[in-house]
Amino acid sequence: MRQIILHGGVGSSNELSGLLNKYASYAINYQDPIDAVVAAVKYMEDDLNFNAGTGSVMRLDGSIQMDAAVMIDGNFGAVINIEFVKNPVQVAREVMEGSPHVILCADGATKFAREKGHPMYDPTTDKARKRLEEAKAEAKKDPRFLYKEAMSVDTVGAVANFNGKIAAALSTGGSSPMMRGRVGDTPIPGSGILVKNGFGIAATGIGEEIIRRQLSYDLYCNRDTLEKEWESIAGNSKYSLGAVGFYGEKSFVLANKSMAHGYARKDD
Ligand code: ASP
Repeated sequence: MRQIILHGGVGSSNELSGLLNKYASYAINYQDPIDAVVAAVKYMEDDLNFNAGTGSVMRLDGSIQMDAAVMIDGNFGAVINIEFVKNPVQVAREVMEGSPHVILCADGATKFAREKGHPMYDPTTDKARKRLEEAKAEAKKDPRFLYKEAMSVDTVGAVANFNGKIAAALSTGGSSPMMRGRVGDTPIPGSGILVKNGFGIAATGIGEEIIRRQLSYDLYCNRDTLEKEWESIAGNSKYSLGAVGFYGEKSFVLANKSMAHGYARKDD
């Protein structure tokens, strides 16, 4: 049996779930779960509805730096603060499969992408410009502006379980508003993403909160009482948090706010 589950970021409208079901129904046709999650995340990176790839939010200085990661049990690849590429998740996969490293950051990640044939691409959109103006207005009103959770939505993730083999992928423009150079949970294994021992998860929410909690690892450790652990996390969190994934063949969707998600299954 092949299954895939996607999220469009905690805080994203449930109205986008139909679109994510469609992307899931395309991605399920791959034979390997890593191909499926990378394809699913690429659809979402190319979709302006989401804060990843084209449509990524801007940093406070107006630049766009993106984080992305892929994981299978026993291997990992990520790019941090990559710039001017269309599909950061594809570069993350190439780091995992085509470099001696597991994480590349900033200009090193961008240079690696060029070497792998990713052309220069500007992911800036009018929506991102507008969001930055809104963030700056918030910052003027409230000095704790870095934690204005309402701005952090629409980042993307996917987890697939194909006959027991699990892969996960995440991609984000980050949690706006944020400084240039800020790194969230997406490229940190055990925080935003984890695949281990028949468990796979792709999280979303304020990256700082996810990293402090090691959210994905915490949920993995409590996988036998997942719903209970989630209730306690959601109840104790001031910020938006969410995740999708699999524990064995059982899919889960966890969120303390609206979160678009999609799912597809094929019985082989
Ligand atoms: N987790 C992402 C980050 O903090 C943002 C999100 O999930 O909306 O970079």
